[in-house]
Amino acid sequence: MSTATGQRTFDSLDPATGSVVGTHPVQDARAVRAAVAEAEHAARWWAGLGWAERRRRLLDYKAVVTQNLSRIAEVVHRETGKPEADATLEVILAVTHIDWAARNARRVLGPRRVRPGLVGANLAATLEYLPLGVVGVIGPWNYPVFTPMGSIAYALAAGNAVVFKPSELTPGTGVLLAELFAESVPEQPVFRTVTGLGETGAALAGDPGVKKIAFTGSTATAKRVMTACAANLTPMVAECGGKDALIVDADADVRAAADAALWGAMSNAGQTCVGVERVYVVDAVYDAFMRELTERAATIRAGEDYGPITMPAQLDVIRRHIADAVARGRAVVGGPESVRAPYVDPVIVEDVPEDSPAVREETFGPTVTVKRVADAEEALEKANAGAYGLAGTIFSGNARRAVELARRMRTGMTAINSVISFASVPSLPFGGLGDSGFGRIHGADGLREFARPKGISRQR
Ligand code: NAP
Repeated sequence: MSTATGQRTFDSLDPATGSVVGTHPVQDARAVRAAVAEAEHAARWWAGLGWAERRRRLLDYKAVVTQNLSRIAEVVHRETGKPEADATLEVILAVTHIDWAARNARRVLGPRRVRPGLVGANLAATLEYLPLGVVGVIGPWNYPVFTPMGSIAYALAAGNAVVFKPSELTPGTGVLLAELFAESVPEQPVFRTVTGLGETGAALAGDPGVKKIAFTGSTATAKRVMTACAANLTPMVAECGGKDALIVDADADVRAAADAALWGAMSNAGQTCVGVERVYVVDAVYDAFMRELTERAATIRAGEDYGPITMPAQLDVIRRHIADAVARGRAVVGGPESVRAPYVDPVIVEDVPEDSPAVREETFGPTVTVKRVADAEEALEKANAGAYGLAGTIFSGNARRAVELARRMRTGMTAINSVISFASVPSLPFGGLGDSGFGRIHGADGLREFARPKGISRQR
């Protein structure tokens, strides 16, 4: 579509009804260049404000976001289809990151004296982390506030300006987040958005004024973003997909494990990078666990407990995975008939071969496979197989054993006797291994991602 002035536009749609939520410009490489050039100017001004003033402005932004919580949640609800309560929780979690980044940036990044070492006794040495300039953030649609804010707040707190390219499915959410920032920082466009589809993200990643890209999205797209970044050797953080496993050990609380598995697999209609997509249960508690799981699953329904599939094309992936899993394994809850586009009711399939798409590829739907294993070692071996390495979960009655298994889990994050709980702790780094990406957001590591270390040695 294009307007009378020739500006091309696109619509964001309510995935439940197909009705138009908003219309936004498709910003091409020229528009992106102009936005980045303005942001470069704003970055110098923002960096010059100093730690205390940036902290004050960011805490003010936190207050503005909090005051506008229901307004933001409403846009998230309309653009993603997720229930408003879930959208509200997402915004609250984002607020914890704005707060943490604002309060900790100086402590983590500010100048400090370091020991000069044996041969440099006559030197005074300092280490500090300086801003990069303009950071480009490319975010996904599944958590359009929480996920990008895990980069945006940290990049801003480190003294950078941010140009944010929201997903084409959730542009209104991104635009609102930047508009609200301008209430706290009206002087310069320190945090702004560029909207579009098909070209805008690549233009941002390839812009020579962008000094780092924080990308969250699929593994396939991350590879294309890297190619665009290569033009200027722009470094990037890649937060990609996952195929997270939950392990239930013989001494676990099976009721708590079943609750966690179900919530981890079905909440947000399974459209969660760190959602539970595979469960490995030790033989001794398998039957008890399955009883608890199926009993609970029977009470959950798409459209009531969670929303629709936000991205229509994902329904094809979900259908393919369910069909294959049901053909090669045993459907326990639901099956192909659970797909009632745009909704998908819970699907649980047991004994699916480890090489099937439902066990190896990201499904991104409310489906989960469950497998009986001899012991926790076999569970861990199976959990660690595959190309992804984002997060995982362990249910165990033995805290020491659980921590030992968690260390050996090939993931960036592991939750014990809870699910996805690491995401609610702002000081913990967030990110994965292998096809799940590289680099870390959140916490001190997240702050350092958006700064460059600078060493200065001075002769005394
Ligand atoms: P996606 O389709 O992979 O990415 C879409 C975004 O990438 C758009 O903004 C698009 O903008 C941009 N893009 C496409 N080609 C580009 C290029 N060559 N250079 C730069 N940007 C480019 O992602 P999605 O479907 O929104 O997200 C879903 C995925 O995200 C899932 O796999 C999920 O697991 C993952 N995820 C991971 C995390 C995590 O933290 N690990 C969190 C949430 C979601 P244009 O169209 O303008 O190019």
